[in-house]
Amino acid sequence: MAEAHRIRRIPPYLFADLDRRKEEVRRRGVDVVSLAIGDPDLPTPEHIVRAMQEALTDPATHQYPPYGGTQGFRKAVARWYERRFGVDLDPDREVLALIGSKEGLAHLPWAVVNPGEVVLVPDPGYPVYGTATLLADGVPYPVPLRADRFWLPDLSLVPSEVARRARLMFLNYPNNPTGATADLAFFQEVVQFARDYGILVAHDNSYSEIAYDGYRPPSFLQARGAKEVGVEFHSLSKTFCMTGWRIGFVCGNAQVIGALAKLKTNLDSGVFVAIQRAAEVALEGPTEPVMERVRVYQARRDAATSALQEAGWRVERPRATFYLWAEVPEGFDSLSFAAHVLERTGVILAPGIGYGEQGARYVRLSITVPDDRLHEALRRLRALS
Ligand code: PMP
Repeated sequence: MAEAHRIRRIPPYLFADLDRRKEEVRRRGVDVVSLAIGDPDLPTPEHIVRAMQEALTDPATHQYPPYGGTQGFRKAVARWYERRFGVDLDPDREVLALIGSKEGLAHLPWAVVNPGEVVLVPDPGYPVYGTATLLADGVPYPVPLRADRFWLPDLSLVPSEVARRARLMFLNYPNNPTGATADLAFFQEVVQFARDYGILVAHDNSYSEIAYDGYRPPSFLQARGAKEVGVEFHSLSKTFCMTGWRIGFVCGNAQVIGALAKLKTNLDSGVFVAIQRAAEVALEGPTEPVMERVRVYQARRDAATSALQEAGWRVERPRATFYLWAEVPEGFDSLSFAAHVLERTGVILAPGIGYGEQGARYVRLSITVPDDRLHEALRRLRALS
């Protein structure tokens, strides 16, 4: 079977070799601990599950959902934005329900990018931004994020001929994979850059609620003029431990939302209404269950960074996200170090190269595994050095 060119254009799966090694290690009977995947191990809060159970028994939820999301869900999103960020959204024109934020991020280039137009993607970054660009016949341009700038891009270094050809720019703070955060002053700079070059901004704020030490990450839409140039993606996945439920949303610029909504009416038929009802309850409900989960991650973050730093790892304590971003020792790159760690300890780390060239000397550790598994992994990693 001949694949279409657009499928062939997607870069090969970088971790194939690591997967093979993982299988080998498992076959040897080693108890493998994976810190490679960012998927909360903690359950969805009970009141949300109960709301879903109740919604399921109502036959009205069994029919096709309204395109774009139910009124109830979109209004709950608008109220949440007002409460959390002080941002005013029109639930009819400025909010769109998504089948998880990944679905919307992946479809956005189809709605706003013409073939051959440039899309600025963060490097390192969530791989979907680049692959979605390729699938829509756009041209991804990696914008380097570097440790010495706290993993924020230096927009003045994007060549102006590239910026002029750019149609869209993806950003993501709190950041996967680096754990970096951005403040409003940076978002204000982004708005100016977007205005100067007529670029649309897609900010991925999936991790806004996974933050520590009292820090509250801002919304891109809090920046002055942001709604004129951009949209923000959100997810219930991380905030409410609902990765399996598949619900997220995008909000902001009405024209962009309209274009994506039009595309989606031709691709999918929306999110199961029972899930949207449960998501409303999640957004409107008590914040304590979220805080309780964040406290668990915070304790794990502290334990993991302390243990690794004591063992000589170059890793910082992130203010947000459930990822640690560690520099690999001299003599290794991200793939060879991940392979070495797996071979010696049975612990799986995500090689940074999977997130872009700038990740070539880093590995990502996710703390979304039960405490006992995390401590077992840390014990082995300490013994390694
Ligand atoms: N954005 C980022 C930065 C992510 O890390 C992820 C998931 N790992 C997503 C979006 C997708 O999340 P979801 O589709 O579950 O909302």
